[in-house]
Amino acid sequence: MSVTVRFAPSPTGHIHIGNARTALFNWLYAQKHGGRFILRFDDTDVARSKAEYADQIQLDLHWLGVHPDVTVHQSARFATYDAAVERLKAAGLLYPCWETAEELERKRKIRLSRRLPPVYGREALKLTAAEKATYEAEGRKPHWRFLLPNFTGDPFAPARTEIHWDDVVRGPQTVDLASMSDPVLVREDGSYLYTLPSVVDDIELGVSHVIRGDDHVTNTGAQIALFKALGAKPPAFGHHNLLTTVSGEGLSKRTGTLSILSLAEDGIESMAVASLAVLIGTSESVSAVASMEELAALFDPAATSKSAAKFDPAELMTLNRALVHAMPFADVAARLAALGIEGDKAEPFWLAVRGNLERVADAAPWWRIVRDGPQERPAFSPEDAAFLDAAFDALPPEPWDHETWKLWTGRLKETTGRKGRALFMPLRLALTGREEGPELADLLPLLGREGTLARRP
Ligand code: GLU
Repeated sequence: MSVTVRFAPSPTGHIHIGNARTALFNWLYAQKHGGRFILRFDDTDVARSKAEYADQIQLDLHWLGVHPDVTVHQSARFATYDAAVERLKAAGLLYPCWETAEELERKRKIRLSRRLPPVYGREALKLTAAEKATYEAEGRKPHWRFLLPNFTGDPFAPARTEIHWDDVVRGPQTVDLASMSDPVLVREDGSYLYTLPSVVDDIELGVSHVIRGDDHVTNTGAQIALFKALGAKPPAFGHHNLLTTVSGEGLSKRTGTLSILSLAEDGIESMAVASLAVLIGTSESVSAVASMEELAALFDPAATSKSAAKFDPAELMTLNRALVHAMPFADVAARLAALGIEGDKAEPFWLAVRGNLERVADAAPWWRIVRDGPQERPAFSPEDAAFLDAAFDALPPEPWDHETWKLWTGRLKETTGRKGRALFMPLRLALTGREEGPELADLLPLLGREGTLARRP
């Protein structure tokens, strides 16, 4: 079967790392099966959906390395949903209801007190034409429910009706259609809830696999029924566990916690985000994976745990460091150039400093140190100043290479009797102004003899 997947965010906020998990599960699934990836904006809620969020989601996906083949907006497809509504009405599968939220709540409580499942009792199906006309005359507008196929003959006597599917992530699943209320597909004001547009689009766009968070597992039963009611074969489904913070809280688009945008702005590598988003909460250990191809090779939806995946944002920094420390120059050259790090020295500079960086951007201050010298002149004790004087006098002649540092400090050890920290620290401070940093053996050839002498205190 050819694979078509979709990622379907509602553009009501910035997507976060949990949404990235869904996008990446779909993307990697498509990559593994040579499939298509559709970006579908679930923007039927026109009041809450914003074009700037949709634009940012596209940028975020691009940054993550997810490149949709097709992008669609549900807000441009209302005519298609209206047509599906007419078909369902004509088939007697979509019926009008006039209960207010308070009435529904009252009914729910009554059912609970009678130890009945708190589902909608389909009372609207009993309304006479006259009663309906009265509501209409009062100016009340109905909402519309989909009649679930959980009965034979008498809709007021629903019976256990199992819907089964073999979930790509969770394995065999069963949902009982008698345990749920007929879902509302259209609100009083004519606006659509998510269910119908989603199913209609999945049919029309030829989606073969619906991969999403496991908060949608129960919806799937009703959706499979709706696919069938619209004459379509349901797609395959996969429901992955959700990410939560260490304290178990869910992530929310509204609060902006761990949004992809904020992580990118914070200098986190996209592959650090992708590695964590995909591998956490699976039997694969979380590691810094350098490319999407390698991540696709590790990705196995069936290896995903069923319980929520708690994650610690500090892990992102650990992964980031690992990626930066091993990052080849070719992969980062353009970004370094944007930081002003270019020319012959850019590559040896990168190889010298990368092992000390948390983020790629942290290379910039080191470049300034290598180019212009310490940002602040350190103060030295009279003994250290005398030692440095002697040390700068004893600089080996050029050409300089990796061995120069050893040669220089080896000689200083003999002539001054200093060793260990007493020997290295004044040199490091004089050359860089910092107590920690890249190997001086790597930095020295970058500074050159002249550049080193210029750092003489
Ligand atoms: N807009 C829905 C959501 O973000 C999409 C769910 C789905 O993938 O079907 O939850």
